[in-house]
Amino acid sequence: MSKASTSSDDDLVFLDESPVTPSGIGARHTKDVWRVMIVDDDADVHSATTFALSNLDIQQRPLEFVHAYSAGEARELLATETDIAVILLDVVMEQEDAGLQLVRHIREVLKLCEVRIILRTGQPGYAPEIDAIRDFDINDYKTKSELTRIKLYTTVTAAIRSYEQICAINASRRGLDCIVRASTELMALHGLDDFTSGVLAQAAKLLNQETNGVVCVQEHGADLNRELFIIAAAGTYSSLTKGATGSIRDARVADVLKRALGQRRNIYGTDSIALYLGSSANRDFAAMLDVRSPLNEIDQRLLEVFCRNIAVGLDNVLLVTRLENQAFYDPLTKLPNRTRLRELIDDALNTASRRDTTLALVDIDHFSETNDALGHQFGDLLLLGVAARLQAQLGSQLVVSRVGGDTFGVLGEAALVNPGVLLDLFASPFNIDSQEIQLSATAGLVRLSEYEGIGADALKDADIALKRAKLMQRAGHLFFTRSMGVDIRERVRMMHALRTAFDDKELFVVYQPQIDLATRRPVGAEALLRWKTRDGSFVPPDRFIPIAEFSGMIIEIGEQVLRQACLELVRLQSLGFSEFTMSVNVSQVQFRHPLFLNMLRQVLKETGAPASRVELEITESIAMEEPDVLIELLSQIKQTGVSIAIDDFGTGFSSLSYLQRLQADRLKIDRGFVTEITSASRGSSIAEMVIQLGRNLGMSVVAEGVEDERQASILEALGCPLAQGYLFARPMTVDQLTSWLKDNGAR
Ligand code: C2E
Ligand code: CA
Ligand code: CA
Repeated sequence: MSKASTSSDDDLVFLDESPVTPSGIGARHTKDVWRVMIVDDDADVHSATTFALSNLDIQQRPLEFVHAYSAGEARELLATETDIAVILLDVVMEQEDAGLQLVRHIREVLKLCEVRIILRTGQPGYAPEIDAIRDFDINDYKTKSELTRIKLYTTVTAAIRSYEQICAINASRRGLDCIVRASTELMALHGLDDFTSGVLAQAAKLLNQETNGVVCVQEHGADLNRELFIIAAAGTYSSLTKGATGSIRDARVADVLKRALGQRRNIYGTDSIALYLGSSANRDFAAMLDVRSPLNEIDQRLLEVFCRNIAVGLDNVLLVTRLENQAFYDPLTKLPNRTRLRELIDDALNTASRRDTTLALVDIDHFSETNDALGHQFGDLLLLGVAARLQAQLGSQLVVSRVGGDTFGVLGEAALVNPGVLLDLFASPFNIDSQEIQLSATAGLVRLSEYEGIGADALKDADIALKRAKLMQRAGHLFFTRSMGVDIRERVRMMHALRTAFDDKELFVVYQPQIDLATRRPVGAEALLRWKTRDGSFVPPDRFIPIAEFSGMIIEIGEQVLRQACLELVRLQSLGFSEFTMSVNVSQVQFRHPLFLNMLRQVLKETGAPASRVELEITESIAMEEPDVLIELLSQIKQTGVSIAIDDFGTGFSSLSYLQRLQADRLKIDRGFVTEITSASRGSSIAEMVIQLGRNLGMSVVAEGVEDERQASILEALGCPLAQGYLFARPMTVDQLTSWLKDNGAR
C-alpha cells in the first residue's frame, strides 16, 4: 500500500502549477528557519515536496527540511529534534496505521504539542477517525491528490502560522507562569535591595537572557533633570555603586531609563530595554536590561504583564521597608537604631569574627546643655554633623548606628573600634549652621571576645561602661569589665533603696559648725546630708550622693536639704544667732537643672531665710565647665543675695582670670591640703597659696577637715580666717547644734 503513494496523483501536483523560481534551495543552518519534517516511505515524495516548497519564505524565514523514511526513523529523529514546526506525514508506511501510531507517540509520549501535523494519504477513500484528528490535534488531513503545489504551499503556510501562534500562546503561558512564580519568589524577599535585584534576575529569566542591568529610582519633583539613584546593579553593570548618583557614565543607559521614567512606559531598544516599574508615593522606579536582540511582541507583552505585577510587589516592599525603617532606623540620621544594632551584635556574636569585634558607644559631652541652650533644631544639625562624620570616617568598614539621644554605636573590628580612633574623630570642630562647634565625646566599650550573652546584654554593658566613663571624667573612655556589672547591680539596688529612704524620711540633714580661727567662735555651719537606714546603720554620702545624681533624685533631695537648712537658719536666727550663715552643697546635676534658680528663689521666699546668710557650695570641677554659661548663672544666683563658695578648692585647675569672673565669695581649702600641712612632703604650700589667692581676690577662705590643733595654728598663722573640722565639731543634729552654739559663744 505504501507504494501506492507514488501514484500519478503526486506527479500531477507539480504539473498543474506554474513553476516558481527556486531561491536558496537547501537547508539554511541558521536558527531562523521553519523546520518541516517529511515522513514518507517514498523518496519521490520527499524530493517533490522539497522542490514544491523550496522558495517558501514565511515571515522572512525559509524552510528547512528534515527527512524520515519510516515511522520508526521519524520517532528516533523526533526524540532529539524538538523544534519541528510542521510534519508532513504519510499515513501508511510500515503498517497500515504507522502514521497514526506516530501521531499518538508524538503527542502522548514525546509530548510535543506545538508541532503541526499534516496527514497525507495516497488513498482518497481513506480517512482517519474524526476522533483521532481531534484527539491527536492533527492540523490537516489531505489526500495526496488534493495537495497540488499551491495547496501544499498554503497548507504548510497555514500550519506554520498556527505553529507560531501556539508557540506564542505557550510562551505566554510559560511566561505568565514564570511571572507568577517570580512574583511569589520576589514577595518572599523583604528588603528593597533584594527585591530590585530579584526583579532584574526574573526579567532576564523571562527573556532567557543573562542578567546585565540596573534598577533605578527617581524622586518626584519638578526638575526634569532629576538625578537617578541606582538601587540594584547586576552582571556587567554590577560595578556601578549603589545609591551613588551620576555614576551611570554610560549615557545610553541613563537615557533609556530617563525615557522610560519620563513616558511612564517600557522602552524597547535594539540592544537594551527599559522597564517602567511603577511609582510609589514620591518616587518612580525603572529597570534597564541588556538584550541580545530586539524583543518580539510576545516578549514585550509578557514584560508589560511582568511590570504591572512588579509595581504591586514593589509597593508592598516599599511599605514593608518603610515600616522596617521605622522599626530599625533612626529617622533623623537614617542610621540603624538601637534595635537594629542589637540584631547586628547578635549576628556578630554568632560568627567566628566575634573574637575580633568590639562594640563602642560614643556619647557627645554636654549635648543636652547645647540642645537646651541653642534649640532642638540646632541640636538636630549637630547630631547630623556627628552622624555624617562617623559614617564618612568609619561607615565603610564598621557599623555606625544611633542608639538614642546623643549616643552613637560603633561595631566592628577591634583594631578599628578603639577609643583613640573614636575620640579623635571629635578633634576638629564641626561646622554646624556655618558655625564652628568644638565637641568632645566619651566612649564606653565592650570586647565581644570576652563576652557570653546576647546583643542586648552587650549593649547594656557598653552603656554601663559609658556611664562610668561619664561619671569619672569627660572626654574619656572605659572598657567594660565584669566588676562594673556587679557594681551596677549594686547601684540599681541602692537607687531603689534611696527612693524608699527619701519617701520614708530616712534622709535628714546634720550641721557642721564653721568657726572663726582667731576667736574660735562659730560663724556658721555646713549642711550635710545623712542616710540612716531602718537597721540603724549609716550610708555614707560619698556612696549615695553619686547615685542620687546619677538617677536625678538629687533634684528633689537637694531641694529638701536647701529647705531644711533654710528653716534651720531661720530657727537659729529666731534664737538670736543673727550673724550665723548656712552653707549648702549643690551638686552639678542640680546646678544644670533649668529650674534651679526658680527653686532657689521659691525656697528662700517660702522659708523666709535671709539670702545674705545663705551660701551655696559648688565644687571646683563644676566651676570649670562652660565658663560663660556658668558665669551667667552665678550672677543670677548672686542677684538673689545668696553667696557662693568654691568647694574642694585646689583640686581643679581654675585659672586666675576665670576665678575672678566667677565672682565667688569664698574658697574652701580641700581637706587633703589641710592634712598635708603637718606632713613632710609638701607641707603648707598649697594651703598658703589658696589663702594668698583669697586675700588678693578679696575672697573669704575656709579650711576644711581641720583635725588637730597644729593644723589650726599653722592655718591661723598663714592668715586663714575660717575653719571647719572634727577639731572643733563633728556634723550634728539640730538639737545638738543649738546647745553646741550656746556653749561655744555663737552670736
Ligand atoms: P564636702 O562638701 O567636702 O563635705 C565635707 C565632708 O568632710 C563631710 O563629709 C564632713 O563630714 C567631712 N568632714 C568634716 N570635718 C572633717 C574632719 O575633720 N575630718 C574628716 N576626715 N572629715 C571631715 P560627709 O558629710 O561624709 O560628706 C561627704 C560629701 O558628700 C561632701 O563633701 C559633699 O560633697 C557630699 N554631700 C554631703 N551632703 C550633701 C548635700 O546635702 N548635697 C550635696 N550635693 N552633696 C552633699
Ligand atoms: Ca561642702
Ligand atoms: Ca569639701
